[in-house]
Amino acid sequence: MKIIIIPGDGIGPETMAVCTQILETVSDKLNLQLQLDHEIAGHVSLQKYHATVTPELLAKVKAADGLMLGPMATFDFKDESKGEINPSKYFRKQLDLFANIRPAKTFPNIPTRMNPFDLAVVRENTEGFYSDRNVESGNSEILVTPEVGIALRRITRLCCDRIAKSAFELAMTRKKHVSIVHKANVLRITDGMFMESCYNVAKNYPEVTVDEFIVDAMMAHVVRNPERFDTIVTTNMFGDILSDLTAELSGSLGLGGSLNAGDSYAMGQAAHGSAPDIAGKDIANPFSLITSASMLLNWLGQRHQLPLYIQAAKLIDQCMEQAIAAKETTQDIGGSLGTKQTGQRFIQRIKTA
Ligand code: ATP
Repeated sequence: MKIIIIPGDGIGPETMAVCTQILETVSDKLNLQLQLDHEIAGHVSLQKYHATVTPELLAKVKAADGLMLGPMATFDFKDESKGEINPSKYFRKQLDLFANIRPAKTFPNIPTRMNPFDLAVVRENTEGFYSDRNVESGNSEILVTPEVGIALRRITRLCCDRIAKSAFELAMTRKKHVSIVHKANVLRITDGMFMESCYNVAKNYPEVTVDEFIVDAMMAHVVRNPERFDTIVTTNMFGDILSDLTAELSGSLGLGGSLNAGDSYAMGQAAHGSAPDIAGKDIANPFSLITSASMLLNWLGQRHQLPLYIQAAKLIDQCMEQAIAAKETTQDIGGSLGTKQTGQRFIQRIKTA
């Protein structure tokens, strides 16, 4: 399997360096024969090619089996006519990676104010309130007059059906419970359609129990009792906000791994951004990217029936639990190591496992 590695901006290069070494180590240990091809996107690409992402890069990504995308300085990329394209949006849209799966769970040794929990947010990735991806050309956020702006939210039955199916499929591998998060009391047509899709899809999964929460109330429920949730399905913007909250509740945003999956392609990507405030200080937590890499290996293993890849994902997850138990982590989750040293210890752990 060939995986394209893109370090990204901010803390991307230092955390992706660790993640790449871990992929190489696990590949050597289990003879995965992973081929890791290094490419660039974001600020470095903008300087070199006058575009944050190029069509040539997309062609290389499409020809590979998977992609690891580092955090991107999305906020800096404002004008597409100047090559400032949001790489995250670009790949999600071009590769039709409609399901963004963002797990969040507590670990015994990480200080948190919550009861132990283990949940996953399944967030729609290709439409919703994201004005840069829900129209064929142009942008659905409009400045009507200097004092008036409009942003449009697109919801389609196809996208609702497929994200609901992803959530129920995932729930079947977990505790078989799906919570639907919406705002159908106000967004009656769009979230009404989303709810309808979820309940229709639910009929095909009689073993899965279902409940529903209005998004604002959900924030209170998830802070009060995160342990009551298993698989949460929601639309794009709600899922983005909710999953940052659940990652932070688990101990740190630095634990937030995620997978962007479509029918035939997947991209691992940390749930957080480029964290410019801590970039280059050797304190960023690489576990979010490492978890994302493990999710990508697992997805490749399932899709291509490669049991060794599934085993590799389990090995990474196991080593992460052990590293956390031994406090061989960065400071944000209670350890005292730098990013590099956290990686070195992790590699030793994989080698001796
Ligand atoms: P961007 O504009 O690229 O989204 P941001 O700083 O606004 O960047 P995040 O990157 O999501 O947003 O980060 C929010 C905060 O969470 C950061 O200021 C940082 O303190 C913390 N954080 C994010 N990722 C990590 C990480 N991997 N390790 C440790 N702390 C992190």
